[in-house]
Amino acid sequence: MVSGASGQGLELQVGPQAELRTLPGLLNAMGMLAMTHQEVAEATERSLAENPVLERMDGHPCPGCGRHVSSGTCHRCRGKGTAPQFQDGAESGVDPFRTLEADAGLEVRSDCRQALESVMAHLTPRGILDAGPEEIARLHGLRDQQVQEALRALRAVGPPGIASTSVTGLLAAQAEALVEAGEVPGWLPRLVSEHLADLAAGSTAAVVRAMGLTEQQVLAGLAVIKDRLRPFAAVETSTTDAAAPTADVFLYRRPDGSLEVEVPASVWFGLHVVDLSLGLRASTDAKQWLAEHEVAAQRLIYQIDRRANALLRITECALTHQKDFLDHGRSHHHPLTRTAVAQEIGLHPSTVSRAVSGKRLRLPSGAVADLSCLFGKGQASRAALEELIAAAPGTMSDEKLRAELARHGFEIARRTVNKYRRSLRPDGQAGSSPFH
Ligand SMILES: [Zn+2]
Repeated sequence: MVSGASGQGLELQVGPQAELRTLPGLLNAMGMLAMTHQEVAEATERSLAENPVLERMDGHPCPGCGRHVSSGTCHRCRGKGTAPQFQDGAESGVDPFRTLEADAGLEVRSDCRQALESVMAHLTPRGILDAGPEEIARLHGLRDQQVQEALRALRAVGPPGIASTSVTGLLAAQAEALVEAGEVPGWLPRLVSEHLADLAAGSTAAVVRAMGLTEQQVLAGLAVIKDRLRPFAAVETSTTDAAAPTADVFLYRRPDGSLEVEVPASVWFGLHVVDLSLGLRASTDAKQWLAEHEVAAQRLIYQIDRRANALLRITECALTHQKDFLDHGRSHHHPLTRTAVAQEIGLHPSTVSRAVSGKRLRLPSGAVADLSCLFGKGQASRAALEELIAAAPGTMSDEKLRAELARHGFEIARRTVNKYRRSLRPDGQAGSSPFH
């Protein structure tokens, strides 16, 4: 059933436009950089089931880290006794919106920090604004231009679609990000912003007429919308699935104390392309079928390796700044923006944001933290503040704490001190510590 196999799933017939021809493969590989390890593993399993030329080498996953090995445990986990325990790192309790605000605070022009705080207050849990920019400006006595600057900073560090004013706007922004990454054709954002209702109602014909696309293109676009766009801005949520403990980036400590980074690539998954050409090249149909699947298999491997390489470079670059943090803990965390890392390694800031978003980092100890813990600011000052408060609980005013922190080299606004302090109390109420 050779022809049947190639007509399944997202595969489309070869159309007249080059755009259409490249779309089917891209549908599978699309957004690989934004995918978590778990999602890559699932995409891999799907391809293994569907594509006869893609195979996994003999062997099994290492019980310690999941790497595909031919026998026993892998060279990393061998000799370590029991398999390393996965657990949530100290970072798992961090409020993602606070991380976002801290990151945006580094990015925003200094005279617009107040505007940023106001804008953050209007973000719904989905990452959408509950009021328009002009309304926010009016409500908080800000200039439109200050609100715009705050929005710019927020969108620069946040996931695609953050701070949109509607779900449609959010989806269109995510589509724009995919266009920018060269992963989908340029008409997708328009399809999203103007025809979502038609698509939802199944009126494909109307969309075909209005957009001047073929039905196949519209259906392919719909598949992208379903597969890759989400009705919420994925704000750094750590998916702590206890049943499938996993990480995107692994850190190992070498015998000399230095750190080594590893990101699972196609070899880690044990993937390879097998040669099925013997006896199958008899007919033109079979040749075509084989060639298509070889291309699909190679493309999957290429995308997995490209994702791994980007994550590797980003993490290695961030580690050159955060060595102290990993060696000595939170009080040695240095402020670091995704933009700075992007500039250092020559990637677009949005690419770095997309790569870091939602990813998990396994530390040499076996603990797992959000990869975003390598970025941002405020962790060192927060640790210092916690220490000060623990040393003299309830005796220092915000102003005294601010002055004390300044003496330690942490210039923080009193308002921020107050916010930190309140967040240290489980119920967020000042003066209600159970220890008093
Ligand atoms: Zn292992």
